[in-house]
Parts: sequence; C-alpha cells; structure tokens
Amino acid sequence: MDKKSNNNIDKTLTKLSLNKEAPKSAFILLMLIYAISIFMTIKSSTTQGFVSIGDDYIAYSSFTGMFSMLGNICIICLVMLFRRVGYIVSMTILLMQFPMMIVNVFLRNNLSAISGFFSNIMIIGAISILYFSYRKVLQYQKHIREQAVTDRLTGLPNRFACSELMADFHKRSERFALVSIDLNNFKSINDTMGHDSGDETLRETARRWKDLANSGKTGTVDFIARKTGDEFLLIVSDYDSVSDIEKTIEAYKTELEKKFTIDNCDFYMTACFGYTLYPEDTDIIDNLYLYADAVLHEIKKKGDGGRILRFTPDILNSERTLEIERKIRTALSGDKIFFHLQPQYDMNHKLRGFEALARMKDDDGSFISPVDFIPVAEKTGLVDRIDMRVFEQSLDFLDKVSKETDTDVTLSFNVSVRHLMKNNFIEDIKKIIDSHDIAPGRIEIEITESIMIDSAEKALQRIDEIKAMGMKVAIDDFGTGYSSLSYLNNFPSDMLKIDKSFIDQMNLSDASRQYVAMIISIGHILNLKVISEGVESQDQVAVLKSIGCDYVQGFVWGRPMAPEDAEKLVEKSV
Ligand code: C2E
Ligand code: MG
Ligand code: MG
Repeated sequence: MDKKSNNNIDKTLTKLSLNKEAPKSAFILLMLIYAISIFMTIKSSTTQGFVSIGDDYIAYSSFTGMFSMLGNICIICLVMLFRRVGYIVSMTILLMQFPMMIVNVFLRNNLSAISGFFSNIMIIGAISILYFSYRKVLQYQKHIREQAVTDRLTGLPNRFACSELMADFHKRSERFALVSIDLNNFKSINDTMGHDSGDETLRETARRWKDLANSGKTGTVDFIARKTGDEFLLIVSDYDSVSDIEKTIEAYKTELEKKFTIDNCDFYMTACFGYTLYPEDTDIIDNLYLYADAVLHEIKKKGDGGRILRFTPDILNSERTLEIERKIRTALSGDKIFFHLQPQYDMNHKLRGFEALARMKDDDGSFISPVDFIPVAEKTGLVDRIDMRVFEQSLDFLDKVSKETDTDVTLSFNVSVRHLMKNNFIEDIKKIIDSHDIAPGRIEIEITESIMIDSAEKALQRIDEIKAMGMKVAIDDFGTGYSSLSYLNNFPSDMLKIDKSFIDQMNLSDASRQYVAMIISIGHILNLKVISEGVESQDQVAVLKSIGCDYVQGFVWGRPMAPEDAEKLVEKSV
C-alpha cells in the first residue's frame, strides 16, 4: 500500500465521498449494444423487403426507428453511468457520424439519412443538458456529503467519517487501532479565556495533528478526526506491533504538549489517550468506541491525565460495576428492591418454609439478577440496605400470612458476610424482629461458608448472638468453599445447604452420589439438618430421599415466586 497517499486525510475523505462509478464491464456492454444497434439501424434502412410474422408482412425499414432508439438509450446510459468519460465518448461517437451523414444527404442525395442527422443533433442536445445538469446535482451532493463527514470548527473529519473508514477496514479485514483522545482541563480555557480562544485552541490542536498525520513522520498510517467538544479520534493502521501504535500516540502527545500561544497568552495542553485494537479486542465497530471511551474513563477515574492506556476487559467490568452501583442506588431510593420467595419442602413434599431472595428492577422494568447486583452491592457497601429491605418486607409477609392462616412455616434470609461482621448488625435485625409478631425460631439466617475461613472468631461470636436471639443459622452453598470439618464442628449452626453444583453432578457418577451422601452423613453426625439446593428433577429427589437428605429446595418443586403466589401455597398447605 502506498503510505504517502494513504497518509493524506483529504484523500481518504475523497475516497469516502460519492464518486464511485459503474464497473468497466457495463461500459463494454453498452458500447457493444450501441455498435449492434447502429449496424442494425443502417442495415434495416438500406435493406429492401419484408419479414413475415404469422400472416403479416413487416418491412425491414420499420425496424430502423427501434434500433436507432436503442442506440440513443445506450448513449444516455453511458452519460448517466460514466459521467465525464461517458459524455466525451458519446459526443465523439455522435460527432464522428456527421461527415458520413453529410456525404449521404448532400453528395449521394440519400434523403432518408436526414432523419438520422436531426436525431443526432437532438440526442447531442439531450445528453449535454443531462450531463451538465447532472454534474451540478453531483457537485451539490458531494458538497453535502463532505459537510456530513467534516467537522465545521476544525475542518477535520468527524465521527461519521471515522465510522465509515473503520467499516472500510472491517470489509478488507485490515487491523487498526482506535484511539480516543480527551483534552485535559479544556473547560478552564473556555472559562478563563473565553469561547473564541477555546475554539482557536481546538483549531490549533487540529492543525498540528492533521499536519502530523499528513507528514507520515509517525511511520504508521494515521487518520485524525474530531468527535465532539474537546474529544478527538485517531485511527492508526499499517503498524507492525503494539509498540508502534504507542510510539505514534506518543508523537501526537508530544505535538500537543508544545507551547500554545493564543490571544497573546502562552499555555500548555495535555490529553488522555485510550486505545483499543481491531480485531484483537473486538471485531464489532460500535464496541470499539465503547471500549476506547471506557479506557478514557478509567484514566480519568485514576486521575492519570496524560496517560496512554490500552483497553483490557477488566476496565469494562469496572464500567459495568459503576453502572450497576448507580442502578442499585436508584432502586433503593425508588422502592425497586423487593423479594421473591422460593419454597423449601421436606422429603414427603410437605412445605417447610421459604427462602427470601432479593430482586431488583431496572429502569426499563426488566429484572437484574442478584448474581450481578449482590457482588457490586457488597463492594460498594450497599448490601446492608438490600439485606434489611428484604428482611423487613418478607417479615411483613410472614406476619400477615401467619395471622391469616395459622401457619408455622419458616423464612430464610441471606446476609452478606460484610454486613454480618458490622457492629450494628444485631441491632439492625433486632429492631425489625421486634416490630413483628413472629417467633424468632421461625427465622433462619443463611451465611456462606467462606465466613469460616475469613474471620472465624468474630463470625462465631455473631452466630452465638443470632442463636441467643432464638433464630436459626444455615450454612449456604456448602461445599463450594474451603469447608473445614473442624470449623464446622465448632459452628453452632442448624442447617447445611448443599450447593447446587453437587446436586447437578450427583446422578452422573457413583462417586458424586457418594460424596453428597457423605456430606449428609457428616451433617447428621454434627446434629445438623441438611437441605439440597437447586434440585431440578424427580430422579434427584428420589436419590436424595434414599441417602437421607432432610429437605429439598429447587425448581423441581417450586421456583422463586411473588409473595401473592407464596401466600396461596401456604393456604393450600395448612
Ligand atoms: P443462594 O442463596 O444460594 O440462592 C439460591 C439461588 O439458586 C437463587 O438464585 C435461586 O433462584 C437459585 N435456584 C434455586 N433452585 C434452583 C434450581 O433448581 N435451578 C437453578 N438453576 N437455580 C435454582 P438467585 O435468586 O439468582 O440468587 C442468587 C444468589 O444471590 C443467592 O444464592 C444469594 O447468594 C444471593 N442473594 C439473593 N438474595 C439476597 C439477599 O437478599 N441478600 C444477600 N446478601 N444475598 C442475596
Ligand atoms: Mg441462600
Ligand atoms: Mg445457596
């Protein structure tokens, strides 16, 4: 590829404008049809006789007009499809026919050629009008098109031009880097020196970068564009390695960091550069913008102005975390955190109680899974509020249902380890329990086994306090963490919840089944009840029954459901 020609932004823009012509094969075809139609026009006008079609006889000369018309259509098509070239070729062909016509009419006295003579003059007039008016339309179209891909203030290509260029690279499966650039502290220039100086700063930045892109000095093929405000985009292609890209970006950085003198004021500018690679990071063009912007946010978040950073997937995660955190905050303030209840049964399918599971609605009304929002809530310290919201709402439910149906079903809650370890935990739940008329023995707190490793001492103390209040304790997701038997022995819990992953495996091999059987036995030896989570089939229920499991929770007998449905289930069970 010729670097010099590619380095020119204007040329790239022209390449993107509407100057695509029809293929050469169409030109050859039109010329061929034209030659045949001219030959047939002459032949039919000079041949005496008739053609018989059924019972009718048609003179050969009757076809002259048809072939001449076909020739004219070819000429018009040539001009429309091949514009300048088509017009020149058509004019040459038509003008070349005049000497022959003059000889025919005036020297040979062949008056029938007069119609051809006038027809030629008319078609010359027609294609001239067509060509010149069409040219104006095209020039206008080109102008509009150029405006659509050009940024008014700086004269650089805009984001639209970038998208087109990237789509072009994508079509040719050519690799490139998209760099998102954000000027630092540009707002303060606008505020202190005025908007005119701000505009001039942007123009000067664009001038420097455009000159650099066109100079080819960076050694890569660069395309610089303005996105909006103080944000620019750079597309780097034709590089050998990632370090080539970084060197190129470094060159743009150096160019920017040279002294600016605007309105007799000297100052310096810096910017953040976040980049992502096609197709290594993603082969979806829209995602490239997203990724490059995510890197910029990451740089800004860390206060690392002036840095050059490449996209990595964990950057996106932190973006997603921020997004979810915002959603949790909105949900907490707008009562969009609520709960569903999943039934738990004994092995004879008698209702034992429910596990309360937090639910959160997105702005558009769809659900966000707790698997996504609970970890973020834990990280951002919002989990306490979610736990307490679910605890309070589901106790309201149990209070109401107990009064209406005289039931003694239990209610299990999940509490985050982080929340459990806080000093105000006991106080928080005590307040809620006191405002309800429910025996604490019907409330079970689920704690994940990770607590045993992380802070066993404090956890033990907390569990003692919970037990002292009369509540039950279940060890959730048992088997997924580091389950030390000695810890388990010391833990004053009441229930083991075998994690779904073991239940999934249970019927696939003998060893897996024996493993589950062993957990149940150990649980029983330690005087704990055992419940299996995520039970999905009757086969699993049958096996669990045979190996002595006490309770079952899973889709096989009931999915998490809205409180109204849970109430109906309770009514049916009493
Ligand atoms: P968990 O406490 O182990 O809850 C059981 C999860 O397994 C629930 O997912 C439940 O819907 C799902 N499940 C139950 N039976 C089946 C089954 O047969 N098949 C399948 N495929 N899944 C089943 P969910 O509601 O998405 O909750 C996920 C996790 O989020 C919970 O796991 C718990 O760790 C956490 N969580 C939920 N609500 C709260 C809450 O209020 N506070 C806290 N701290 N964590 C919560
Ligand atoms: Mg649970
Ligand atoms: Mg669980």
